[in-house]
Amino acid sequence: MQHIRALSAAKETRLTISVITFDLDNTLWDVEPPLIKAEYAQQQWLLQHRPGAVDAFDHEALLAFKTSVWRRHPALAHHVSDMRTQMLYELQIAGGYSEEESRSGAKEAFEAFLVERHKVVLYEDALDVLKRLAQRYILGALTNGNADIYKTDAAEYFEFAFSAESIGTSKPHPAMFKAALQKTGMTAKQIIHVGDDPDHDVQGARDIGMHTVWVNAQRKPWPSGNKPDREIVNLRQLPEAINHIADAR
Ligand SMILES: [Mg+2]
Repeated sequence: MQHIRALSAAKETRLTISVITFDLDNTLWDVEPPLIKAEYAQQQWLLQHRPGAVDAFDHEALLAFKTSVWRRHPALAHHVSDMRTQMLYELQIAGGYSEEESRSGAKEAFEAFLVERHKVVLYEDALDVLKRLAQRYILGALTNGNADIYKTDAAEYFEFAFSAESIGTSKPHPAMFKAALQKTGMTAKQIIHVGDDPDHDVQGARDIGMHTVWVNAQRKPWPSGNKPDREIVNLRQLPEAINHIADAR
């Protein structure tokens, strides 16, 4: 927070780029490997402790079951952890387990999932780049998922983190971006948001007036709509992209 106070002088001029906010999944790391391991750990827990629950379904039937849970609980749409716990609970109820067993089982299976979910491996160069940027900017995390930046090696570089679960709505809704404005006391024009999702990250941040960097590791064509200020294919290119935006002001 000392950092925020030191940089609040920049607010006076309302000119300087002072804050960089980051999406997490597929921006700072590839989310697929930990997700696959997390799903596997959850399934193993169920097979061992609640036989007949998840194994009563083949792949397609399980997907249909999950989809029906999502449809019946729209209020949990921005709460991915609660949604998963609800699905795990209903899966055990359907498997003939008592309400109490299903509740405790949902909690424990989710915990098994979360342990692996948090074992993310930052993209090569990510730590170096974040360390460099943290010397000059306030860094924050804005994620729709249930990853926790403070459980990674990059924890020390982040001054704040908001998740869709903590705010109650997901990007591209302005609420999460507004939370970053409130937290830092900066204007949107002093913030650059960095993310991989053209809609959630680029459009969402742009709508509130922030600068944007699109992390396009897969080198896809830009879908449509307003383009990001800068596009990069790996994080090594980020400092230069930030300088470019800052210099253009
Ligand atoms: Mg992402």
